[in-house]
Amino acid sequence: MGLKKGRENPLAHVESPQRNAAGLAAPSWNSAGSRNLPASVGFRDSYYKVETSLPFIALTFDDGPHPLNTPRLLDILKKRNIKATFYVVATNARAYPEIMRRIIAEGHEIGNHTVTHSNLTTMSAAGVRKELIDAHESIVATTGVAPRTMRPPYGAITSAQKKWIREEFGYPSILWSVDPEDWKKPGSSVVTSRLVRGASPGGILLVHDIHAPSIDAIPSAVDQILARGYQFVTVTQLLATDGKG
Ligand SMILES: [Zn+2]
Repeated sequence: MGLKKGRENPLAHVESPQRNAAGLAAPSWNSAGSRNLPASVGFRDSYYKVETSLPFIALTFDDGPHPLNTPRLLDILKKRNIKATFYVVATNARAYPEIMRRIIAEGHEIGNHTVTHSNLTTMSAAGVRKELIDAHESIVATTGVAPRTMRPPYGAITSAQKKWIREEFGYPSILWSVDPEDWKKPGSSVVTSRLVRGASPGGILLVHDIHAPSIDAIPSAVDQILARGYQFVTVTQLLATDGKG
């Protein structure tokens, strides 16, 4: 496809920054803890939600892309012109590059959710750094667009990790304000009602697009949240409203 594939020395980009589709340099980093900070979004190391009274809310989908459920979800979002954020696992990103490109083509955002989906708090800094670099590069290789935020698997991350990850990668760590625990498969209507009940200005909703019943929950959930006057935005758009209004 002419897109860059394969795995190369992750530190090569210190010398030669990768460029995304917009021609902007992707963050550069080095293992000594670079001080040339990449452009970053937001002004905090991490977010559970954003401080705003404006009716903006972010819908986030983790652990995909999934070959059946993610395209079905994309159809649902497209029909309503809703933009979401996908925290993809790099193994799935590599397996389904065409779905990755569809996510971007339809105006959604992609964030870094590591390669192996491990608990980062149990790993060395070098191990965490490798997870994030490899996942970042897989996303750039499949879509041409660099991720700007990360979500730690299981929400497990230390304050110190949040700080250095933001310094080196420019990523704020994105947690969530609403977890419907859809991975426990409580049934679509339960997931729907938990999402609707939890919606609040500046909120971040967590769903997993690898589970079919989670996708089933989305049409009713988003329609009810829209009916309450909310507008769905991507995570970086939401961060831009932090402290405003
Ligand atoms: Zn996950």
